[in-house]
Amino acid sequence: MFPFTYRSASSVPEAVAAAAKGARYIAGGTTLVDLMRETVERPDAVVDISTLPLNKIHAADAGLLRIGSLVTMAEAAAHRAVRGRYLVISQALEASASAQLRNMATIGGNLLQRTRCSYFRDVSADCNKRRPGSGCAARGGANRMHAILGTSASCVATHPSDLAVALVALDAAVQLRGPAGERRLPLAELLLKPAHTPHREHALKPGELITRVDVPEHPEGLASGYLKVRDRQSYEFALTSAAVALHVTGGRITTARVAAGGVGTVPWRLDAVEDALIGQRPHPKLWSQAAQHATRGARPLEHNRFKLPLLTRTVERQLTEIGDSL
Ligand code: SF4
Repeated sequence: MFPFTYRSASSVPEAVAAAAKGARYIAGGTTLVDLMRETVERPDAVVDISTLPLNKIHAADAGLLRIGSLVTMAEAAAHRAVRGRYLVISQALEASASAQLRNMATIGGNLLQRTRCSYFRDVSADCNKRRPGSGCAARGGANRMHAILGTSASCVATHPSDLAVALVALDAAVQLRGPAGERRLPLAELLLKPAHTPHREHALKPGELITRVDVPEHPEGLASGYLKVRDRQSYEFALTSAAVALHVTGGRITTARVAAGGVGTVPWRLDAVEDALIGQRPHPKLWSQAAQHATRGARPLEHNRFKLPLLTRTVERQLTEIGDSL
């Protein structure tokens, strides 16, 4: 370990002021502490935000859901309104990490967790994300777990969050507080594809803090769920995953939200699959036909070509699961 200063913030403005001067936010600590131990991250200062009043869930009658950024993963997964209206969020959270980690890790931290690319966490390896300009060891190395969508010559690491996949499917947004005040950002704009700057993973300005996640209103009776395919059934990251939310009015699909995890450098919205579903009558063949669009634009690497058919099957299976319940 290396020396750093620690302080506990007693208010949001105090935390933001410390972060604006370079301190790193720490709450559950389930990502940052690991990275500091491995010297991947070496902050001079951390500011503890775990006691700030950002730990409530508000569910309005209209269906709008507001989740404080310090709500733990376990609390959000078990919340009655989350389970009742947005089962896809609960299932994504329950498929994440381990019970111990879900009891500590927060919603905000989960969205901003860093990649699990093993080369990123090995300080002796070349990694453009950790050391810009050094190269990407994964491109010519072991890349079975890596991304097939949204990649660049600079980086092919996946975004590891299951929760983010569900929230992107539901068009969620984050509320931010920074030195210049508050602003709101769609989650799909918060997380950045690597392009030529893989070390820039999010669109937060210096000092900005996620204070809340807002899930917009969706039709009552929206059926949703999350399927995660992985090498073992617990405490493992996704090879592929699918978040699906569907609603039918007058016998036709009027809402279709589909996103994939384990395959993209960011949570990947499957627009082409959604387009194939909207306006159609639910039918077993439709799920299979729509899922064929899931891999549009994908570019597999040497060891992860298997993700192409696996993603198609994951999306088809989850569409079938949700479609049969309509
Ligand atoms: Fe680093 Fe990204 Fe390459 Fe992994 S895939 S080694 S995170 S640049």
